[in-house]
Amino acid sequence: MKLPESVQFCLNELENRGFAAYLVGGCVRDHFLGLKPHDFDICTDALPEQIEGVFENFPLVLAGKKHGTVGVVTDSGVAEITTFRTEGPYRDSRHPDWVKFVGDVRDDLARRDFTVNAMAWSPTRGLADPFGGREDLKKGILRAVGKPEDRFTEDALRILRGVRFSVRFSLTPEEETRVAMENLSPLMENLARERVFDELCKLLPLVSAEDLLRWKHVLGAVIPELTPTFDFDQRSPHHAYDLYTHIANVTAGVPADLTLRWAALLHDVGKIPTFTIDENGRGHFYGHAGVSAEMANHILRRLKAPNKIREQVVTLIDKHMTRLEPQRKPLRRVLGRLGEETVFGLLVLQEADMGSKGTGKAEEMEQFPRIREEIRLILEENACLRLKDLAVNGRDLMQLGYEGKAIGEALNELLAQVLDEKLPNEKDALLAFLRQV
Ligand code: ATP
Ligand code: MG
Repeated sequence: MKLPESVQFCLNELENRGFAAYLVGGCVRDHFLGLKPHDFDICTDALPEQIEGVFENFPLVLAGKKHGTVGVVTDSGVAEITTFRTEGPYRDSRHPDWVKFVGDVRDDLARRDFTVNAMAWSPTRGLADPFGGREDLKKGILRAVGKPEDRFTEDALRILRGVRFSVRFSLTPEEETRVAMENLSPLMENLARERVFDELCKLLPLVSAEDLLRWKHVLGAVIPELTPTFDFDQRSPHHAYDLYTHIANVTAGVPADLTLRWAALLHDVGKIPTFTIDENGRGHFYGHAGVSAEMANHILRRLKAPNKIREQVVTLIDKHMTRLEPQRKPLRRVLGRLGEETVFGLLVLQEADMGSKGTGKAEEMEQFPRIREEIRLILEENACLRLKDLAVNGRDLMQLGYEGKAIGEALNELLAQVLDEKLPNEKDALLAFLRQV
């Protein structure tokens, strides 16, 4: 394994002082998978104070010292060194109740979640792999370390982590592990919400539609609003798939961007409360975009998502049924209102939505390239799309005698005139227009 200089240095320093030091976890797994590790965690039998002693001449990060982790700041980055430890259950669902420092690497590996993550390796000591992680990797198996029920009960986030590792490395969960993941997924209800959100954010960009279908019960345990969409018959000639299969296809069909994936996952949850059947037995979902948006807002608040993501997702969902046409004036208005990034996001979402109905109708899809081309032309012109692009501002209007709310109203009126191409975006013309109204 090719090690960064700082990592090699830390291993050497610890070993030179008579301590055992290994690389552990993700980097060992990634190495055996032929992937380039993105970070290197070091573990050692040195106690935190002893680690501090070994690296006394270096700046240290001690925020994690209580749990055994000391960060050593070197020229080539921070190396995280953690004392071998065992740990108690996660009763606050964030941190283990207690950690106990131990002398044997095997005891440290035993507290880890999956066999493929429970290997340690050192250039001098070789591989420590008491749970057969290497063999499981070769066979493509995801297996909990120890008794699956116990491990998921200790920390239920491991269930979602398991889904992520299974998806990311195409690992098939061993049967007992899979059953425990499914059966114990209700335990995730008690987890700290932000841990769940972070884990979902790591998972969502990786998933295929098949992954979302395979793990739907685990997802439903953390987003219960999805559960009624499972196998839900939309009773519509526009939809060949049940609602959740459609959702899964749309989610996997948008690019691996967090906002887009969240928007796709939640874009149709409002179809459940808005569902009606007409006299011909056909299903309708009047107003579902707005209801989905409200529900998504609620879900993302509950998961403590950052405001920026939540707001973008809610906007995309709210507008996902707004049909855009490849026509200049309406497109300019939409661009002015929503901004270019949101409009492009909306197009991608709508395209995936339309393409995932399973009815094989292609003609509606043809408009998307035309809309994109029209937008490109509008943007190329450097057109005036928003209030800040107008050739006049509030100060100009105050000089004309406008005050308070009237300023905003007049600016909006001017923007509407410019967007409709009734006025050029030129200061004289805009002021002349105001003088004559
Ligand atoms: P990634 O490439 O996503 O960082 P990773 O395996 O390095 O994968 P981390 O979350 O960085 O994952 O955790 C590092 C190691 O710590 C894991 O490989 C695993 O051994 C252990 N670990 C992390 N979280 C848990 C947990 N909740 N329960 C048990 N072991 C865990
Ligand atoms: Mg890691």
